[in-house]
Amino acid sequence: MPGFDLSHLALNTATLGHNMGPNVDGWPVDRLIDECALRGFSGLVFWRREVGSQARDIGNRVRGAGLAVAGLCRTPYLVGPEAPCSSALDREIRESVEMAAELGADVLTIVVGGVEPGTKGIRPSLDLVTDRLQPLCELAADHGVRLALEPLHPIYAADRCCLVTAKDAIDICEAIDSSTLGIAIDAYHVWWDTQLAHQLRRLPPERLFGFHVCDWLRNQADPLLDRGMMGDGVIDLPQLAELVWDHGYRAFVEVEIFSSNSWWKRPVGEVLDRVVDAYRRSVMGEENV
Ligand code: ZN
Repeated sequence: MPGFDLSHLALNTATLGHNMGPNVDGWPVDRLIDECALRGFSGLVFWRREVGSQARDIGNRVRGAGLAVAGLCRTPYLVGPEAPCSSALDREIRESVEMAAELGADVLTIVVGGVEPGTKGIRPSLDLVTDRLQPLCELAADHGVRLALEPLHPIYAADRCCLVTAKDAIDICEAIDSSTLGIAIDAYHVWWDTQLAHQLRRLPPERLFGFHVCDWLRNQADPLLDRGMMGDGVIDLPQLAELVWDHGYRAFVEVEIFSSNSWWKRPVGEVLDRVVDAYRRSVMGEENV
């Protein structure tokens, strides 16, 4: 039985529809932080475009309310059709690392990008990712920032993330062998992988940097923006929670729900309440929530 409790619960602000800017659904950032603290959340994960030049200030406000900045999403794509060209890539990488450091974020997430133009298949792109991660790891280490490689579901391989399995992510970690680099496991992206438990055994416990949860709806309308609340879909979340707990993972369980037609349309307070209830049932194993 995993021992996750509310001290592990973090909210990824994407769950609220990327509306943060100065406001979330009419809520100033301060109110979002306070309302999360009130409901027992222990961490918040932000996106770069929400933070802008306010990193230090937001980090201090979060900690002042008794929470942690559990993470920052994310570096630019390192490869693929939407990766910035080389000088812009270096600049954006530096900006993302500096922002994570200023926020005091636990980890900076890496979604590596799709298949590199001019190549076919996954291998050449993954090799390029490994090359580009070397200097990124050094930069992150200099700033005291940890990097979490996040494999995404294979449906995104072409355009968003050619890294689609925990196996390939762990292979890259082994190739680079920097304590700065680990992986994040997102239930939405790995739930189908029957090799996950087997592969995780290769990863030192201290290199598992993230565990993200939501659910995969049986009849999803959109593979990107129709994720479900924990418990509403087909993912065996209690089993995944047990797997990462048994692996030694004790950091944040990050709720990350992209849901343009459902959760993003609901009042923020209601979404936060439902997230806490669903977390208690699906991750903490409480029955009468
Ligand atoms: Zn994720």
